[in-house]
Amino acid sequence: MRVKVDTERCISCGLCEEMLPEVFKVEEKGASVLLPLIEEEDRKAVVWGLLEDCPGEALTVEGEEPRIIPFYVARPERR
Ligand code: SF4
Repeated sequence: MRVKVDTERCISCGLCEEMLPEVFKVEEKGASVLLPLIEEEDRKAVVWGLLEDCPGEALTVEGEEPRIIPFYVARPERR
């Protein structure tokens, strides 16, 4: 899975960095992806959740069929 952020759409809310700080870094001008290529299934699950919940609808992924996984499934400890 390769993750991308559309910085034109990103509103710098910080949600992606809060959920996956090893992957996303958020600054005033928008989020950047520190680790674009993600192999681990638990990280993938969180990214699928972010696709649904990113308020800017700024995230896209390449390399896998789209799946929507709510956060409470991907990271139950964050409920
Ligand atoms: S969750 Fe979406 S809008 Fe918020 S900082 Fe991340 S990419 Fe930007």
